[in-house]
Amino acid sequence: MKFTEFRRAALSLGIISIGLAGCQKKQQVQTQRPPAPNRPREPIAQAPPQSPPTPRRPTGQPDWFPRSGKISSRWTTIVVHHSATPTGNARTFDKGHRDKGWDELGYHFVIGNGSSSGDGQVEVGSRWHTQKHGAHCKTPDNYYNDHGIGICLVGDFTRTRPTQRQLASLQRLVAFLTGQCNIPDYKVTTHGLVTRKTLCPGRNFPIAWLRRSLALSDSPGMQPQ
Ligand SMILES: [Zn+2]
Repeated sequence: MKFTEFRRAALSLGIISIGLAGCQKKQQVQTQRPPAPNRPREPIAQAPPQSPPTPRRPTGQPDWFPRSGKISSRWTTIVVHHSATPTGNARTFDKGHRDKGWDELGYHFVIGNGSSSGDGQVEVGSRWHTQKHGAHCKTPDNYYNDHGIGICLVGDFTRTRPTQRQLASLQRLVAFLTGQCNIPDYKVTTHGLVTRKTLCPGRNFPIAWLRRSLALSDSPGMQPQ
């Protein structure tokens, strides 16, 4: 009986020791676990610097993005023009520029006045879709063609004024482009201010109003419509 009791005791101790060993193993496993949850967090922690910066002014229309969906980092300025004609649209200006021997429409965008396209209608030139340099503002170093987004408003603003719809579309388009390309407002300019050799876009074009309206559009409740 005593031997049996000893065996039982020994067995129970063994079981206890196995149980303890198991506990210790579990404890060891538990003490080794903390680094494991950190592993999947590493890529999450690295993600924010890799994500694209939030555009300063995220308004605009989906078709103002190039077909590739990606806007080049080359753009640092915006140059506004008038067509110096009472009528016209992207197609007629494209033909006129090709007739001069140019590769295609020199501007990236054309904003209609209701004559040959809608009043305030924004037409996107093929240059914009391929993010190609412009052909609208010649300077000795070609900086404004290489890095300037060319926008042409249909009309002759030495004689008339842009329509309200043209100005509303221009403000919205420029707000979109400055936001997407991080272009400061003071780098929104006109053909004449750059070269000092042309009247384009005419004395009736309100560049001061455009710059002021861009600054106001950053205020809450003043987003361009
Ligand atoms: Zn011009």
